[in-house]
Order: sequence, then C-alpha cells, then structure tokens
Amino acid sequence: MALTHRKDTRPVKIGNVMVGGKNEVVIQSMTTTKTHDVEATVEEIKRLEDAGCQIVRVACPDERAANAIPEIKKRINIPLVVDIHFNYKLALKAIEGGADKIRINPGNIGKRDKVEAVVNAAKAKGIPIRIGVNAGSLERHILEKYGYPTADGMVESALHHIKILEDLDFHDIVVSLKASDVSLAIEAYEKAAEVISYPLHLGITESGTLFAGSIKSAAGMGAILSKGIGSTMRISLSADPVQEVKVARELLKTFGLASNAATLISCPTCGRIEIDLIKIANEVEEYISTIKAPIKVAVLGCAVNGPGEAREADIGIAGARGEGLLFRHGEIIRKVPEETMVEELKKEVDKIAEEYFEK
Ligand code: SF4
Repeated sequence: MALTHRKDTRPVKIGNVMVGGKNEVVIQSMTTTKTHDVEATVEEIKRLEDAGCQIVRVACPDERAANAIPEIKKRINIPLVVDIHFNYKLALKAIEGGADKIRINPGNIGKRDKVEAVVNAAKAKGIPIRIGVNAGSLERHILEKYGYPTADGMVESALHHIKILEDLDFHDIVVSLKASDVSLAIEAYEKAAEVISYPLHLGITESGTLFAGSIKSAAGMGAILSKGIGSTMRISLSADPVQEVKVARELLKTFGLASNAATLISCPTCGRIEIDLIKIANEVEEYISTIKAPIKVAVLGCAVNGPGEAREADIGIAGARGEGLLFRHGEIIRKVPEETMVEELKKEVDKIAEEYFEK
C-alpha cells in the first residue's frame, strides 16, 4: 500500500518542475565538477538527466563559477539550482545568469540592503530560494541557546531565515534541515513539518560512501518519507552523483512514491535454485531502469515458492529445470527455454509498459 504523502505544503516552481503541494517527491543531485569547467559540468549533468535526476545543483564558490551559469543553463534540460554561501554579488550574478533557484541563507548575506537586492532579483525572475539549515553550521546565538545542535535549534534557525524572506514579502521558499546524525535529522524534519508550510528538501549530509551512505540515507530519509514528509530530496554520497539519483529512485519506489519507475523483485536464492539468478537479476534490473511505468518485474530462482511469493509482480520469471516459467500476478502463462527466457521476459516487460501508457 502506498503511503499518504503530505500535500498541504505550498507548491513552488523551480524551472518547469513543481515542488510541494500535490506533486511527487522530486529527485535532485549536485555536480562534483568545477562549475567554471562548463564542458565537464554539462557532461555530468547530462548523465544525471539520463539517470532520472529532475533538478540539479551546482556550487558557486567564485566569480568564474557564476560566469559559467548562462552557458551551462543553455545546454541542459533540467532546472539548475545555484548554491551560494554568503556572497550576495554571486547570488545576483547567478540569478541574472538564469538560475532556476538559488540556495542561500538570507541571514548570512549581511546588511539588509544586500538581502533586499537578492530577494528583489529573485522576485523579478520568479525563482525560489532554498534555505539550507545544517546542524554543523548553526548560528552562534542558537548554539549558545541550546548548547549544541538540536532539532529545535535547527527549526529555529530555519524560522529565522524564513522570517527575513517573509518580511520582504517573499514566499517562494524551500527549506532543508540537514544533519549527518540520522536521529537528529529525523527529529528536525518532523518538527519542521509541524510549523513550516513550505516544501521540505530532504537530506542527510556527509552520509558516506556508496554502500554505507546509501544505507544511512535510506534509514534516515526512509523514516522521514514514511511519515509523509518531504517534497524533494538529495541523497549525498561520496560517489558518482549518478549513484545518488539511483539510490533516491530506489528509495522512492520502496514507498510507492515514484510513478515513473519500474521495480525489480528478486529472490535471495537458496539450495532450490534452478537458474543463474544473480546474473539474470542484474541484467533485468539494468533493463528496467529505463522503463518509465510503475510496473513490478520478478526474477525467481525456482518455481517451488516463486510465482506465489511474487504475486504482486506484473510479470515474472521463475527457473525450472532447463527452462523458465513466465508468470503474471502469480499465474503461470507459459514455459520458455532457458536460453531465451530473459529476452522473452524483456519483451513481456515492454508489452506491459506499453499497456500501462495506453490505459
Ligand atoms: Fe529459493 Fe526458489 Fe525462494 Fe529463490 S524462489 S529463494 S530459489 S525457494
């Protein structure tokens, strides 16, 4: 059963993508290239697009990076978010250069006239601002009040930045409350969801390498998503960012929150196995990664428990001696020779995906 997702957040438009409100959770990632290296950055963004990334963020640490924004923007197809720390001139340049959203904390910009300049520029272009609270860099007055980073402190920091924007009549806001401590992040997002009506951008920071970081992110963001919280998300990994997108998609599928991706069900194998299941499962997983329909495909090592165990699968294959049994919703539809069973399964997958889009 799909969980009920929070639908009462304010919808915010980022380029041609809506975040919040009734919209699905949007997947983001961030480039690892030097932003001023346009070729490398665009090449990485294209790979992210292909993997299913819906919004991409680039760091803007200096003028060279800000100068590259117009050219990057021209050559990519998904909305571009520009990440700026403190420097309002870089923010203005990024907005002018075509950023679809900027990530900057208004409380860190400095004097009011600078904040106003950034907010007015964002308003004029109709682009949102993400406030990025990070447990590791809370404001000094908040740390003094709470003694150390707490969920209440993080929410207070977010509200402090939100108020600065609201006082300037700016409401296209997205908020993140990242922490590398999973329990702290969960508590912060839960508390934020009670008092903040802007879309929440989920993240567990510095979560680690592909394997450990995926588990940590899935544990943290899974707990938050399971409560219906979160309008957009980025998995942060010390890895190729394409992996971040793949992990995010997998996580959303787990909760029935991705209507544009197919899911693989495969058995863990045991002594009853009749086919080279691990190889087949990997091949089928790769094949369905480009299918944009929410279908379920099963690959099972044997027919003893197989089809019955994978009753929810739209199509599946179970190994039998020298052959495969194709089944739909637990019912065997035909036998196929072992040599061609993966190809047969792929054909059936395509057929079911087509049927889905014809509905
Ligand atoms: Fe074992 Fe068959 Fe179950 Fe796979 S489907 S775990 S091979 S009993």
